[in-house]
This record gives sequence, structure tokens and C-alpha cells, in this order.
Amino acid sequence: MSDSSSSVSRPELQFGNAWEYAPAPESLGALTLRERYDHFINGKWKAPEEGTYFSTANPANEDTLADVAEGSHKDVDRAVKAARKAYDKTWGPMPARERGKFLFRLARIIQERARELAVLESLDGGKPIKESRDIDLPLVAAHFFYHAGWADKLNYAFPNRNPRPVGVCGQIIPWNFPLLMAAWKLAPALACGNTVVLKPAETTSLTALHLMRLCEEADLPPGVVNVVTGHGETGAALVKHPGIDKIAFTGSTEVGKQIAREVAGSSKRLTLELGGKAAHILMDDAAIDQAVEGVIRGIFFNQGHVCCAGSRLFVQESIVDDVMTRLTNRLQTLRVGNPLDKNTDVGAINSREQLERIRGHVACGCEEGATLIQSSTVSLPEKGYWFAPSIFTDVTGEQTIAREEIFGPVLSVMTFRTPKEALERANNTPYGLSAGVWTQKGSKIFAMAQGLKGGVLWANTYNQFDPASPFGGYQESGFGREGGRHGLAAYCHLDF
Ligand code: NAD
Ligand code: MN
Repeated sequence: MSDSSSSVSRPELQFGNAWEYAPAPESLGALTLRERYDHFINGKWKAPEEGTYFSTANPANEDTLADVAEGSHKDVDRAVKAARKAYDKTWGPMPARERGKFLFRLARIIQERARELAVLESLDGGKPIKESRDIDLPLVAAHFFYHAGWADKLNYAFPNRNPRPVGVCGQIIPWNFPLLMAAWKLAPALACGNTVVLKPAETTSLTALHLMRLCEEADLPPGVVNVVTGHGETGAALVKHPGIDKIAFTGSTEVGKQIAREVAGSSKRLTLELGGKAAHILMDDAAIDQAVEGVIRGIFFNQGHVCCAGSRLFVQESIVDDVMTRLTNRLQTLRVGNPLDKNTDVGAINSREQLERIRGHVACGCEEGATLIQSSTVSLPEKGYWFAPSIFTDVTGEQTIAREEIFGPVLSVMTFRTPKEALERANNTPYGLSAGVWTQKGSKIFAMAQGLKGGVLWANTYNQFDPASPFGGYQESGFGREGGRHGLAAYCHLDF
């Protein structure tokens, strides 16, 4: 691998090559790609006003998959107007139970077409097929089913508070869970009677566009959901547009802050789901094998492209040697490679830019004195964007790798002596999205849960998601919740 450090340690794998698997590639099946994708506005595929397209690639081999329309402020304007018209004329006035039927229908079509959407998600974004197939797609369908059920029951979700829709929502999403983030945003907005203009991330627009093909099949009325593709400027045009009533954004803290400044003083509502630097706290009484497995999955899942990734591990000092041995052994058995192979655990990094960011952080960790451990068994493909799963030891709380979000497959291990120290160190971050606690004692779980700053806390498990469970952060991780009744409230006006 090409990262710079000469001090990287690559321990030998125990049990030789017993972990080698024959390739088991998923077939492309029913997936058909267009060469070129236009915007989806007012129920029609619309060429960009300025005629510009950009290409989207497969990060596993750098092959171009398709060309995608670059959205200008004119395209955004057309989409917002279409969404307003649908809000005023069709979707707003429609009885809520009818809106619910459309969402149920869309949920069922997504289930039927889950395989091709999963393959496309892995092709365009680089995530392993077993994740897109077994985690992302089932959750996408579940979000539509869950919110379809709420559509005509909002008065029960918010008794005596007269829930009304907010209006036209501008939704901007990232590349780490492209279709799932679209579902988290679209399903509650539509269930509450709003209409939407969605802006996918520039490296992963294809599944959102395919979802629009499914919206066509579901006969969703024109203008209810519009997709305008493009880069950051397209997103900025959406944020600025005066016809927008609410912005929902998931992405970097830096862009989130820009959006908050832009929206300040306007009547636009805003929810932000930003970065994280989640901590695991691993106590000496924990079931260590389960904890190690949870920690490994919590950071190497989706190449660490997860805002709630457990990127810091605090281990109680008395068990650190044992934990490090087991972590290192497990690191060696992770299978890195072709995202479409059903055996792959860790896929491709989403883009060259993200790969450069991760390399920069890791080089910085080595310079600041941490020790890098990587697998001796991983050989990274020649083409595409790859980074070997990595663990840092000899980490101090002041080092950049312990403070800044890396958004890649890199775990920093530190130690603590007392639960109080663990809490202080885990909370010493400007973020506050999530955390994990590993202990056999319920009382310790509750004590930690009280003390940890984070919107989401997992105990003896990690990265579990459910549409009924609110997700979101504190501090620089943003505000607002997605999922559950809290998530619905973000898309309603409510009386007090
Ligand atoms: P980003 O915040 O730049 O992009 C997220 C989305 O916002 C994309 O759709 C992008 O086109 C859009 N966008 C960019 N600039 C915008 C602007 N000025 N106004 C409106 N929309 C804008 O994220 P990135 O550059 O792709 O990744 C950078 C870092 O963000 C990553 O290293 C990671 O730390 C973090 N990130 C976090 C999440 C998360 O889920 N919280 C997701 C992706 C990235
Ligand atoms: Mn892509």
C-alpha cells in the first residue's frame, strides 16, 4: 500500500491462509444503466438548462458508469417551482390516507427491485454488496413502510397539536449511504404532506435517480419529488432559493455551518446531520470477543464512511493487551476488495478526494508519534481507490487523529483506568453524535449513558438502525432528529 509510513507494523496472520476464499461476485442481473441521466423535474427527465454533464465513476476500478446532469440555479428554480405547484395542487390537498398508499406502493416496489438497487449502490459508491444488499436496501424499504403508516395518523403522533406540512423541502445528502439518506429524508417529508427537491452527492447520484424511475412506476404525481444533480454549487443554489421552506442537510460540519449561516434570519427551517468522532468504551468486565467484533464492524463497516463510525476505542487498562491481540487478529481476517464480491468486508474508498483526506490523516498520525498497524494479508487492487484497514496505538488525546473526523477505515486505540476518566476522555470532542459501551453490568451502561454526550448510544452492540428510532447529534454533529416521531416533527408545523 502506498501510504508513507515506514513504521507501520504488519503482524503475521495466525492459521496461515485458512481465511482465503474463492471469488463470489454478484451478477449485474436486471440492472440497466443509461449512458446519461437528466434531472427529474415535475415527473419528467429534463436536460440541464446549461447543457453540462459530469461523469460518475465506479471507485473500485475508476471506470465511468454514466454522465449526470450538472444542476444550475435555473434547474433548481424549475424544480422548486414544480414542487410548489405539486404542494399547492395535488400532494397538499390529497387526503393523507391516499398519500400513505403511494408511499406503501413505493416501499413495495423498492423491495421488489432491491437487488438491482443494491448492485447499483455498490457500483457507484464502492460499498460491499453484502452491506448494500443486507443493510442499506432493507432499511430503505423499512423507512418507506414505517412512514407510509404514519401518513394518516399524524394526529396520533402529535395529539392536540394540529400537525400541518412545512411546504417545499430542499434536501441535500452525502455519498456514504446514498439511497438510505434519500429514504431518511424523502419518506418523512412525503408522509407529512411536503414536497421535495433532492440533491444527491456528486459521486453517488445514480441510486437516487433510479429511485425516481420507481416513483414513475408508482405513478407518484408530478413534482412531488424532484431530483437535481450536481456539485456543491447546486446544493448552495437550493439552500438560497426563496421558494424553499425547509432545508435538511447531511454531510460535513464545514458545509453544515455554511448552510446555517445562509439560512439564518430567513423563515427557512433547518436540520443538520454532520460529522462525528464516536467513542467506544470497553470495560474490563465486557464479553471481549463480542466487543472486539462490534468495534471492528463499527469502524470498518462501509470503509469507515459513517458519521457515527466508532473511530476511537477507549479500553480499560487492565485488558488492553488482550484486546489488542484480538483486534489485530481480527484485522488480519478482514477481506478487502471487489465491492461486488459477496465475501468482501471492506470495499473501495468513495472517491480520490476522500482517499487523499484519509492518507493525509494517517500520515499525520504517524508524524505525531502514533503506531500504525495494518493487515499483512491485504493486497490492494492496482486500480481504484483503496485504503487498508488500519489501527493506531500509542495515541494521545491531543493528536489530530484522536480529534478530527477521518471518515475512513482507521481506528485509534487509547486506554482509561476509571469510568470517570473514560467519560471525560470520550466527551473531549466538539462532536456528539454517537457512542458505544461494552460491559456486562447494566448499572455501568446506565451510568455511561447518562454521562456520554451523544445523540445515539449503543450498549453491547453498535451501528443498529431502525426507522422508529430517532437518530441525530449534539454540538458540531448538528441538530434535529431523523426517524421516529422526533423525525416526523421536523417535517410538520405543530401547535403548542
Ligand atoms: P460535503 O459536506 O461537501 O457534501 C455533502 C453534500 O453537500 C453533497 O451533496 C455536496 O454536493 C453538498 N454540498 C457541498 N457544498 C455545499 C454547499 N456549499 N451548499 C450546499 N450543499 C453543498 O461532504 P464531502 O466534501 O463529500 O465530504 C467531506 C467530509 O464530510 C468527509 O470527510 C466527512 O468527514 C464528512 N461527511 C460526513 C457525512 C455524514 O454522514 N455526516 C457524510 C459525508 C461526508
Ligand atoms: Mn460514483
